[in-house]
Amino acid sequence: MKMSKLGKLLSVMMVVALFVLAGCGNNKADNTAANGNTAAAGESEAIAKIKERGKLVVGVKFDTKLFGLKDPGTGNVEGFDIDISKAIAKHILGDENAIELKEVTSKTRIPMLNNGEIDMVVATMTITEERKKEVDFSDVYFQAGQSLLVKKGSPITGIQDVTKDTVVLGSKGATSIKNIKEKVEGITVLEFDNYQDAFSALKAGKGEALTTDDAILYGMAAQDPGYEVVGEPFTDEPYGIAMQKGNADVVKAVNDTLAELKANGEYDAIYKKWIGKDLAK
Ligand code: GLU
Repeated sequence: MKMSKLGKLLSVMMVVALFVLAGCGNNKADNTAANGNTAAAGESEAIAKIKERGKLVVGVKFDTKLFGLKDPGTGNVEGFDIDISKAIAKHILGDENAIELKEVTSKTRIPMLNNGEIDMVVATMTITEERKKEVDFSDVYFQAGQSLLVKKGSPITGIQDVTKDTVVLGSKGATSIKNIKEKVEGITVLEFDNYQDAFSALKAGKGEALTTDDAILYGMAAQDPGYEVVGEPFTDEPYGIAMQKGNADVVKAVNDTLAELKANGEYDAIYKKWIGKDLAK
């Protein structure tokens, strides 16, 4: 029987589809083999890529005092998360300066990681079950908890004073937004692109409280003594370093770095330097 034009087209498409599928299969097999081979030498493809590039590209905050803050004068970015990032670069590449820091916000950090712009996120990021669906996390490297920043003299002295009529400010993509909406039903939360904008809005009187992790809020209070952190933290925010899913060796390199820092006392020194007190043990 003579094949119709449509029939021919369909069979060509099927052959193409088969090739494509076979190709995918092969690639996968190649990758696995490559991973297997390099893993034998102690390295995954992701680690090899970082070494080939000669630098670790890390997503950090540029607007968060104590964790990742860019000094507009010198252009230097400094903070707790930066010191941890440098230690990871040293562990993987033997040089803490073999690093490029790229700015992320709470909203952009997962997309930037998963589209390959950065190797990892070290940016005040809480480990959550929801985020674990999209990224892999290291062990916990910092324990924070959500709190409130208010103008000194505010009637708000803790979460118990926040009602659905309170206007609260926060940063898009942060766990803090969801958390406070769960705590106070019907509350209005104004969401900003980053924390500096949220803090400017608080100073401009656009809301009565800014909510995020206590450690971040202490940094803001240090920037402007007219503001203070009130009440006890009302959530647990364990920070983890996020990496693209499926690179066990990168996760191991990061966890090994954290373990080393804890064992040799450097972690305590970094904690003291930025958080201003000894680590509560
Ligand atoms: N740790 C919280 C979070 O991961 C708030 C801090 C932030 O927005 O980075 O969402």
